[in-house]
Amino acid sequence: MTNVQLLKIAEEFGSPVYVYDAEKISNQYNRLTGAFKNVKNLKINYAVKALSNISILKFFNKLGSGIDTVSIQEVNLGLAAGFLPEQIIFTPNGVSLTEIEQAAKLGVQINIDNLSILEQFGTKHPKTPVCIRINPHVMAGGNANISVGHIDSKFGISIHQIPHLLRIVENTKMTINGIHMHTGSDILDIDVFLYASEILFETAKQFKNLDFVDFGSGFKVPYKDGDIETNIEELGKKLSKKFNSFCKAYGKELTLAFEPGKFLVSESGSFLTKVNTVKQTTSTVFAQVDSGFNHLIRPMLYGSHHDIKNISNPNGRERFYTVVGYICETDTFGNNRRINEINDGDILSFKNAGAYCFSMASNYNSRYRPAEVLWYNNKAHLIRKRETFDDILKNQVEINFSEKKETSLVK
Ligand SMILES: *Cc1c(COP(=O)(O)O)cnc(C)c1O
Repeated sequence: MTNVQLLKIAEEFGSPVYVYDAEKISNQYNRLTGAFKNVKNLKINYAVKALSNISILKFFNKLGSGIDTVSIQEVNLGLAAGFLPEQIIFTPNGVSLTEIEQAAKLGVQINIDNLSILEQFGTKHPKTPVCIRINPHVMAGGNANISVGHIDSKFGISIHQIPHLLRIVENTKMTINGIHMHTGSDILDIDVFLYASEILFETAKQFKNLDFVDFGSGFKVPYKDGDIETNIEELGKKLSKKFNSFCKAYGKELTLAFEPGKFLVSESGSFLTKVNTVKQTTSTVFAQVDSGFNHLIRPMLYGSHHDIKNISNPNGRERFYTVVGYICETDTFGNNRRINEINDGDILSFKNAGAYCFSMASNYNSRYRPAEVLWYNNKAHLIRKRETFDDILKNQVEINFSEKKETSLVK
């Protein structure tokens, strides 16, 4: 999208506002399916938690994608967006048996990552096929908070517990129809990923009724110029080959599944904020925008980098700014960034604002959550209204403290 288009959106819908480019989403989707074109049955399940607006989900439905969900609410959101239960996989962690049963009742594919839950579920519902999430203990994350494959991670069933798992399957007579891993975000080294895939294939051999093998996600996208990203095309070539020969040995054309969030939506998003004031201190020039970690928490939560551009003055002289928010806590979006000269009222655009941005927004400081706009077919579509004061009060219950105290309830 061009700066002019983004500026017009900020003008029309106000700031701050999230803008998503539908074309970028479909390009990423097609890139992924293209990389695995040699696999006969490929299934992409978009990870809803990255960006869960219902219009985004409908767009993925239109593309032919399925969805990956982590809560019963996401399952219901997917159903509301028009996905069929069989297009939905439920991959929760640490939820109750009841929630898993609710999802199973709706007919979605269950993915279990806990032996105790597996045994309870299998005992009660031996006829419902279940996918199992394996932890291959491969360290593949880019940040300690987002690498979930290592030995002390809470995710998945350890490969060292497979004998126990097989006993549960045998005793309950349940069916395991899928095998899954999700090693963590930011996979840069394809060989690490392929190594983990070997472990998954080895494990898969021990289950006779599989329909699919799910490699989760963790594809890295570029955050700044010169950033390396997961080479999807190379991964596609190498993993397809391994997968096809695994299917041959297994004796069945299985489905190869992925569930990316970030890869599909991160780069589609721009977060537009307005500069309230430029504040010069003795050491720093701060640009203070009409937002904070209530709207975009990733930089503060796990140090993620979002490029910041001054789209109001793209040809201005570059200077160094520390871009901060208006929250009454330290909320630094970017330290000492080289940005085209900023003046009060300028619109700053934060890049890579598609994944884990709006979906992590809150009402902290009693601020409204921003509007969301989808740029589709050369037109801006409002897909979420900015909140209003009613939303802030909606579920709050007021006590009337001036009411006379009842002296006795018993008459
Ligand atoms: C969050 C999550 C994903 C998506 O991860 P990305 O890094 O956004 O691609 C996929 N699968 C599971 C089980 C997840 O929890």
